[in-house]
Amino acid sequence: MAKIKTYKIITFGCQMNERDSETIAGLLSEMGFRENPDRDSADILIINTCSVRENADSRFFGTLGQMKRVKNSRPDFIVGLCGCMMQQQHVVDAIKEKYPWVDIVFGTHNLHELPELITSVISEKRKRIEVIPCGEGIVEGLPSKRLHQFKAFVNIMYGCDNFCTYCIVPFTRGRERSRYPERILSEVRALAADGVKEITLLGQNVNSYKGADGAGFPELIRRLNGIEGIERIRFMTSHPKDLSDELIGAFSECGKLCRHIHLPVQSGSDSVLMRMNRNYTKADYMKLVGKLRESSPLISITTDIIVGFPGETDEDFEETLSLAREVEFDSAFTFLYSIRKGTPAERFGDQVPEGVKHERFNRLVGVLNGISLKKNKAYEGRVEKILVEGQSKTDKKTYSGRTDTFKLVNFKSTEVHSGESVDVRITGSGTFSLVGEADQ
Ligand code: SAM
Ligand code: SF4
Repeated sequence: MAKIKTYKIITFGCQMNERDSETIAGLLSEMGFRENPDRDSADILIINTCSVRENADSRFFGTLGQMKRVKNSRPDFIVGLCGCMMQQQHVVDAIKEKYPWVDIVFGTHNLHELPELITSVISEKRKRIEVIPCGEGIVEGLPSKRLHQFKAFVNIMYGCDNFCTYCIVPFTRGRERSRYPERILSEVRALAADGVKEITLLGQNVNSYKGADGAGFPELIRRLNGIEGIERIRFMTSHPKDLSDELIGAFSECGKLCRHIHLPVQSGSDSVLMRMNRNYTKADYMKLVGKLRESSPLISITTDIIVGFPGETDEDFEETLSLAREVEFDSAFTFLYSIRKGTPAERFGDQVPEGVKHERFNRLVGVLNGISLKKNKAYEGRVEKILVEGQSKTDKKTYSGRTDTFKLVNFKSTEVHSGESVDVRITGSGTFSLVGEADQ
């Protein structure tokens, strides 16, 4: 009997990449490959790369370097690279020069070509480097092998038109393209029929979603809210400049829309925001926060903040600290600014010295952690509905899951299953999670 071939996918970066990896897994499964958790014994390794986070690209090159040993010992081992980094010509050139043993390189716009690329590598024994420039269209109907049983990512749009001056995404993911509303609705209906309870709608700026029939993002949410079986709707990411009153209203109007918004602010300084090309001011952002809390008083607000953007002064940074204290973010992703080749900010003078960047970063994280702890403490004594995600490996009576406000809760309970909703009394809190007991 022929040996079944196996694959391993390593994914760096954001939810978009995770979702793309689900599609790659679907394509490989349709070709008859089976997933193998061990990268060194798999027949095919696909590395899905990220060019946004600096440590993701250095981790990628580390992993790739280690693969040479496997390739030397098993020449039939196929190594394929994809994702945002591969949409950058200088990266592809470096791969060709320094890692000539890589078999396949493809980009974010031609995932669907992977089966053909693999077939030709196997049958013609030649490498394939096929990256197509940012396209206009969307390829629908690709298979998918989902990571989770009861929650799913759903792309509603691709690309970005905002060109924040530090960001590589508009160059690697292309212009904004929205999926047809009916395609999204039928995908979500199928997910619900398959037992999915929670969906997360994905787009670089979901607020600028525009369906072919004119439906905007709030209308899409209203339609999805009516799908039986779906209990929770989340979305990310939302650009403050496009956050409409209609969408803010959806938090009180649509029962399934979770009370959580990820609203990246990036900086609290108006002059930095202007140089980042964000198109809002600190006052605009604070106004949005006020409206959100009026529409949904317990809403949790999370954010992204970049420290050390070119020209950021001590005063600019103090503005960021003061905004963080005023908003009281539930949590935040913090980034040290890093130059992305080809972006406008690459050419900005006045780079902030590394030492200053790190010192500011640590101060900011200290302030943000203090706020998270305080916000989490306020949950103690409340009963929260938790969608169960898993069971502890070491203590079978402990489970974990999230509140609709996206707080991670570890709780004691008699047997419950992933995907079940359980009422949990919150008994304790930390900076990053809550603890509780099922309210039985
Ligand atoms: N589209 C989302 C938005 O506008 O908020 C964010 C997408 S981006 C993939 C995720 C985060 O990476 C950004 O919000 C930003 O904080 C961070 N980021 C992007 N480019 C960066 C850079 N060159 N240096 C540091 N952080 C960066
Ligand atoms: Fe990048 Fe700005 Fe687009 Fe977000 S909105 S993906 S930060 S360019």
